[in-house]
Amino acid sequence: MPGFERFGDLEREELQDVLDNGILMRYGFDGMRNGHWKAKELEEELKTSLECDYAQLVSNGTSAVSVALASAGVGAGDEVIMPTFTFVASFEAILLLGAIPVLVDIDDTLGLDAKAVEKAITPKTKAVMVVQMCGSMANMTALSQVCKKHNLLLVEDACQAIGGRYNDKPLGSIGDLGCFSFDFVKTVTCGEGGAVITNNKEYYINADHFSDHGHDHEGNDRGAETHPFLGYNFRISELHAAVGLAQIKRLPEFLEVQKKNYTILRETLSEIPEVTFRTVPKGGEESYAFFNFFMPDVEIARKTIEAFKDHGVDACWNYFDNNWHYVRKWNHLKDAKSLYPLSKDIKDALNLLSKKTFTQSDHYIGRNISCLIKLSWTEEEVRSRARKMKEAILSSL
Ligand SMILES: *Cc1c(COP(=O)(O)O)cnc(C)c1O
Repeated sequence: MPGFERFGDLEREELQDVLDNGILMRYGFDGMRNGHWKAKELEEELKTSLECDYAQLVSNGTSAVSVALASAGVGAGDEVIMPTFTFVASFEAILLLGAIPVLVDIDDTLGLDAKAVEKAITPKTKAVMVVQMCGSMANMTALSQVCKKHNLLLVEDACQAIGGRYNDKPLGSIGDLGCFSFDFVKTVTCGEGGAVITNNKEYYINADHFSDHGHDHEGNDRGAETHPFLGYNFRISELHAAVGLAQIKRLPEFLEVQKKNYTILRETLSEIPEVTFRTVPKGGEESYAFFNFFMPDVEIARKTIEAFKDHGVDACWNYFDNNWHYVRKWNHLKDAKSLYPLSKDIKDALNLLSKKTFTQSDHYIGRNISCLIKLSWTEEEVRSRARKMKEAILSSL
């Protein structure tokens, strides 16, 4: 998954170019920057690579989600439906706007279950945020239908799935807005960075202004710009954008290596009848950033993780007992532990959440094992890993 495994001359050249020119800020300083605009160039590359009309870079993937929601007018008191299995960033980004996260079950895709989404809709629901976890995707046709029927915004968090496709469209470009992260462990990395993509001009203009203090970015005198509305600083720097620019050009190469490594692991584990795989919706093509499979039950999954350690297999997890990615251990969220007062709406919703159980999600996450696919493995290393994984699984059954 992580592009940092392949840092090289391209990244160094782009970075050196920024340092040689000395302008680390993505906006303004037009006279001093000798025509060097790394962030703007990266936005152009993203539009091509992600086949969308508009791309706005931001400081990270978490701010991308906040900016995407704000750009479409989601705010105080609005409910945003999100999955029980994601990264903590999902609810953080919603809460930041004063909106209310409403958690619902996932299905065997490890993404939002459209039926569970439909049941959770209330008059306050404004948006559905689907998270394309671990390089694959939820059933986007079913989710798009639910959103259309109920006139809801569909926001796609594709932070973990850059390069994946559904019905021949890049993940992230299917919903009304898509979000990406280029943090240190993502497929395309620049240390810290993110992007919002959309085909909606109004959302794009809002994202452009909102992520830079509400600046209108008209003309070439930053001091003379006006502020049509409130904003914050979620800008990316030229240094980060420079590394991102080198990395995005290498995405096809990264995807090819991921797929090759994934395929070797999958073919070997397919020889074990007790091992099953997450459903990839028809028309879907994973990014192959991760390899996910199911064991027959929670206990066997836990035993397998222990056996992996004994067999020297690293970078594999069971998210059931993890407090970053799954609702079961998000006690700070359920207990509304906040430094500053939260609104009554939010507190009531979190109180309800703390009493809720998610048996369907537990059924999938409890049995799931998720393994990172690295770019740096040699073929011999992947084959040896596949053998060790198979041995460890057989010893756990
Ligand atoms: C990484 C990630 C984010 C947040 O991205 P950052 O750049 O680390 O803020 C959001 N959602 C998902 C699914 C992620 O994996």
